[in-house]
Amino acid sequence: NPPHFPYLCPSIMEAQHTPQSLDRAIQSYLRARGYDRLRLHNALFDMDGVLFDSMPYHARSWNRAMREFGLDLPEAEAFLHEGRTGAGTIDIVMQRERGRRATEAEIKAIYARKSEIFNTFPPAGPMPGARELAEQMRRDGLRVQIVTGSGQKSLLGRIERSYPGVFDPSLMVTAFDVRYGKPDPEPYLMGLQKAGIGADEAIVVENAPLGVQAGHAAGIFTVAVNTGPLPDEALLRSGADLLFPSMQAFARSWPLFFQAAARTRRE
Ligand code: MG
Repeated sequence: NPPHFPYLCPSIMEAQHTPQSLDRAIQSYLRARGYDRLRLHNALFDMDGVLFDSMPYHARSWNRAMREFGLDLPEAEAFLHEGRTGAGTIDIVMQRERGRRATEAEIKAIYARKSEIFNTFPPAGPMPGARELAEQMRRDGLRVQIVTGSGQKSLLGRIERSYPGVFDPSLMVTAFDVRYGKPDPEPYLMGLQKAGIGADEAIVVENAPLGVQAGHAAGIFTVAVNTGPLPDEALLRSGADLLFPSMQAFARSWPLFFQAAARTRRE
């Protein structure tokens, strides 16, 4: 297959997608992957920054916890690490700040403190537009599932309260299922496996560069929604097949996207 550099294609950067720009994005994916068509059976949703507006709290918690241990992780940088396991993030910061790996004890202590601080914030609200998007997908016959690196114990309850009856818990992938986490394709491959489908039968919805990398590496058509402070280029360079400025924007364009997927064949 030829190298796949969709971010060079201006069609995926348009603020207002048209049937033609959506066709081009799907066409570019099909050609790069060698699939004949994109069959929309399942949508794999990331959670933080996609279903819940929780990233500002995560970033602040990381910043404060690190500072208590004498380490510097600016809030803006925390958005770049989103999707990584807690241990992975702590190890990267420790290597940068102290020039050595983090010990198991340090990882445990810092992550526990980060979680403690995170839990002092009010519960993050649902991301505007996410419910409208997921409900449209369901009406169009898709199954929607969650693929998250989060290991919050209260996860299932929160999802059911904000998105009643929308997501199938038996198809969910969380921190407890995976070994490597994003940007490794493992979580999304596991999502496909749980659903019993191939990479050409799903789309990924992601807000973080590492999450986009994971979806892209799993071979799935990956839609980036830029709900945070990072530049669009950070998501496009990570391999996004399509970019929207918000979940509301994707929800508005869903009918057009669904029609584009139904008609587009590899040329
Ligand atoms: Mg996310």
